[in-house]
Amino acid sequence: MSGHEKLYIDEAFASNWIAPLGPNVDAFEQEIAQFVGANDAIAVSSGTAAIHLALSLLDVKKGDRVFCPALTFVASANPILYQGAEPVFIDSELESWNMSPKALIKAFEEAALEGELPKAVIVVNLYGQSAKMDEIVTICNQFGVPIIEDAAESLGTTYKGKASGTFGKFGIYSFNGNKIITTSGGGMLVSNDREEIKRARFLASQARDQATHYQHSVMGYNYRLSNLLAGVGRAQLQVLEHRVSARREIFENYFKNLADLPGISFMPELKDTRTNRWLTTLTINENEAGVTTKQLLAALYKEKIEARPVWKPLHLQPLFQGCLYYAHEKNNDVAERLFTTGICLPSGSNLTEDEQQRVITCIREVFNQSISKRSYLYPGKQEV
Ligand SMILES: *Cc1c(COP(=O)(O)O)cnc(C)c1O
Repeated sequence: MSGHEKLYIDEAFASNWIAPLGPNVDAFEQEIAQFVGANDAIAVSSGTAAIHLALSLLDVKKGDRVFCPALTFVASANPILYQGAEPVFIDSELESWNMSPKALIKAFEEAALEGELPKAVIVVNLYGQSAKMDEIVTICNQFGVPIIEDAAESLGTTYKGKASGTFGKFGIYSFNGNKIITTSGGGMLVSNDREEIKRARFLASQARDQATHYQHSVMGYNYRLSNLLAGVGRAQLQVLEHRVSARREIFENYFKNLADLPGISFMPELKDTRTNRWLTTLTINENEAGVTTKQLLAALYKEKIEARPVWKPLHLQPLFQGCLYYAHEKNNDVAERLFTTGICLPSGSNLTEDEQQRVITCIREVFNQSISKRSYLYPGKQEV
């Protein structure tokens, strides 16, 4: 928390606006829309709910296909299943770690041949990094398929100066506890299409028709954000820029102190973008490093430092067994490689320099031990 959240919560209590909806919700929606430069926004109970609403608005139904990146959190794809639709997974490319335009074209071409074009393409900006939006938007426009931009992890990121989350028909943000700003739980759906957001508002509040009694013609959801939590969000939004700077500094510090280690590569920053560096992530080339991701995670864990592996690709999950998947290139599965070699370092905006140093020291020790072990096993190597 930033310290100012209670002001908004107290205000909600004082005015007795405890229900879902209320002045904080309205203001939070306007403030987010203005911040990212979208015409309209609706605050909802989670990022997942926002994706689900977007799919509903695009009329994704049973049997429809939806393209989705392979390398993402399951929440990007679960709403596809809620609609009874079929996800088709698209591999990553190495410059952004996000959706590979090459794999996307291949998926589109095959789908067009089969007469099974997807109803929507979900694009994810992983760990705060924008996907290659110019290329992806061009391809999707060519096939006339709308984009839902899952910017759950990339609020505060820009691509060519434009806010992440504003490149598709719909954009979604998450305010879950682990995201760069939080309402403890919450999300936002944004769009330039005010009519669609109006419809989202209707669907998200049980789809109640205009009538003097309770009248319902279509199925709705209970997805609205509470006025209390929206208050937390308003205060959080005020410190977003600070948090982006803090996370970028944490990245710089890790980079400065670890990039010289053999076999380590940090997630790059895509050209013409400014990522929020939600999480500092890197990959380890086991052969060069003499250390595996698993060993490193275990060593950090022993020091009570919580690090995480990179998301396990969805096409490898039992839940999505049998779903279509398109690789970046033949025999080049980028998402899978990022998963087996990737690691996310502690990156909280409030991480102190001492805490960062502990992480750095622990990682350097693991590498040092590996190097001394190797020079013991292969003494000749030391001279090389
Ligand atoms: C967190 C997250 C979501 C879901 O957001 P919730 O608010 O937790 O429902 C969706 N997609 C990605 C990529 C996420 O990281």
